[in-house]
Amino acid sequence: MNSKASVKDYIRTIVDFPHEGIMFRDVTTLFADPRGFRMAIDQMLHPYAGVKIDKVVGLEARGFILGGAIAHQLTVGFVPVRKKGKLPGTVISQDYKLEYGEAIVELHDDAIEAGERILVVDDLLATGGTAEAGIKLIERLGGEIVGCSFIIDLPDLGGRKKLESLGVDVQALCA
Ligand code: IMP
Repeated sequence: MNSKASVKDYIRTIVDFPHEGIMFRDVTTLFADPRGFRMAIDQMLHPYAGVKIDKVVGLEARGFILGGAIAHQLTVGFVPVRKKGKLPGTVISQDYKLEYGEAIVELHDDAIEAGERILVVDDLLATGGTAEAGIKLIERLGGEIVGCSFIIDLPDLGGRKKLESLGVDVQALCA
């Protein structure tokens, strides 16, 4: 019998990856399991039942896997927010702070139309810097954020508070 009762049971922690002292939450074990993956997608969709969503935006890279499955389930389009230099068309860019230094994410400038209602998805919410940058890009094109959905929220790192202070609904399946 499968002893895994919750999404969290399918996620493993890798110690000292990518640097010493980091406990990396690895969702590839969740994605690799058909029951676990379906459970995660179903639970991420649950809070948005009956809510109008025009597009799903996934944050690179694991947000693409979740976002593709969620968009397919909703029969809406999927749009990637990518790291600088990866998207082939005309882009808008947004910088954000990392633990050490800065990074830039980009969005095709024609990927979202003004007024479209957008669900943002990624695997993990830590400081919220990545999601905030994605939200800013979407809002610059006139998109309306319906919510941000994650598998894991690390509440001590303040991401939820940061996003909620922007008026964004935050959903996560586990901590
Ligand atoms: P934030 O910008 O500080 O909220 O970090 C979240 C981003 O970093 C997301 O795109 C995550 O995929 C990635 N990330 C940070 N820590 C982990 C982890 O332990 N496991 C998987 N992804 C992580």
